[in-house]
Amino acid sequence: MLEKVLIANRGEIALRVLRACKELGIKTVAVHSTADRDLKHVRLADEAVCIGPPPSAQSYLDVPSIISVAELTNADGIHPGYGFLSENADFAEQVEKSGFTFIGPTADTIRLMGDKVSAKQQMQLTGVPTVPGSEGALPDDPDEVVRIAREIGFPVIVKAAAGGGGRGMRVVHNEEVLLSSIQVTQSEAQAAFGSPVVYMEKFLQRPRHVEIQVLADGQGNAVHLGDRDCSLQRRHQKVIEEAPAPGIDDALRNEIGDACVRACLDMGYRGAGTFEFLFEDNGFYFIEMNTRVQVEHPVTEMISGVDIVREQLLIAGGAPLSIKQEDVILKGHSIECRINAEDPRTFMPSPGTIKTFHAPGGHGVRVDSHVYSGYTVPPHYDSLIGKLITFADTREAALVKMRQALDELVVDGIRTNAALHRELVTDSSFMAGGVSIHYLESKLEHER
Ligand code: ADP
Repeated sequence: MLEKVLIANRGEIALRVLRACKELGIKTVAVHSTADRDLKHVRLADEAVCIGPPPSAQSYLDVPSIISVAELTNADGIHPGYGFLSENADFAEQVEKSGFTFIGPTADTIRLMGDKVSAKQQMQLTGVPTVPGSEGALPDDPDEVVRIAREIGFPVIVKAAAGGGGRGMRVVHNEEVLLSSIQVTQSEAQAAFGSPVVYMEKFLQRPRHVEIQVLADGQGNAVHLGDRDCSLQRRHQKVIEEAPAPGIDDALRNEIGDACVRACLDMGYRGAGTFEFLFEDNGFYFIEMNTRVQVEHPVTEMISGVDIVREQLLIAGGAPLSIKQEDVILKGHSIECRINAEDPRTFMPSPGTIKTFHAPGGHGVRVDSHVYSGYTVPPHYDSLIGKLITFADTREAALVKMRQALDELVVDGIRTNAALHRELVTDSSFMAGGVSIHYLESKLEHER
């Protein structure tokens, strides 16, 4: 069992990790920038160390500083949260080489899944369905490239193997612009990610984003906790998530979940992870794996009763997985609205001091947030100020609770996207369930 964990993150996820540590009797160390002295988890941690100025590169991404603090405070584990260093294989490697436990998979696994070509190949090994496309990286021979594109069928999408964050991708609609589009994507990929390797796959026209949550202990045990639908997105950023994904039958959900479990066992996966899929015409197509805890993990916790962060900590401490697949019983429906400090119309960030903060509550309502009345949202980081999560027996009832929760929420002093959420939870298409990943952007375009 870990005794003291350094939390290498900030905001709501740092608080989420701190709470799980406290429940397990694990001591906590917060590291923070000079802009984050007033964060809730910094106040609540057993120890807190300032590691640098506001820019992330000089604080939350400063590997030597973080490892030094772990040494100075005698921490034995480091939890990376999401974002920042969470999917940085070199960081995971340095943490482990310095004698600490990285709360996540091995550096090799992060590397394997961080390269989209090798990740896709790994999935094909164990029968996880992938988007039809080139077998690995695109060859140099232009005739061969054209042949592959014809075989896949237009439109195709050219993607950087090392890409991430929705960048390094280009949709190609016809053969005339194929080779030039590939060249542009290659040079962009080289500039942005330091590797020109690209691959090609079928461009799905109206897919949904459906993902599978897994937990594995690296000792031969793995389970899946069902799926989440995260199709409501703007600029590849998720806005509302829910579990289970509406309209997908249990047999199909379990079939894909079992394939993900097999993939975990095959690669010796350790920790929490998410297999992301595009879902179209009742088919799942793997796009990438996230080797960390995700923002939207609470909706899965609500319907499964499993505390994902607690499991991460236990697994990292060397314990075998405490649950078996037959113990996982998914029940009810959960929805999460991401509350951002931003203008609900222009989406411009809106940092500043929150004069009054009132969190909603009541049966089936969960609020994961680090903010409070008088807290100042700094301008340097992600604009997420909290997550509103509801849970009920049915999707309809979870939506009713969400409407109520959004009505109760008060955030005065800064602008938030709560108004957008109030609109979305009464939107007839969203209420019907199963909208595609393009729905939100086209709705916003029509209305504004
Ligand atoms: P990133 O790591 O940059 O997030 P992903 O591979 O997860 O890249 O893809 C990001 C988004 O790009 C997807 O959520 C989807 O909206 C779109 N996308 C990626 N591949 C395809 C595809 N084959 N067909 C249609 N859309 C795609």
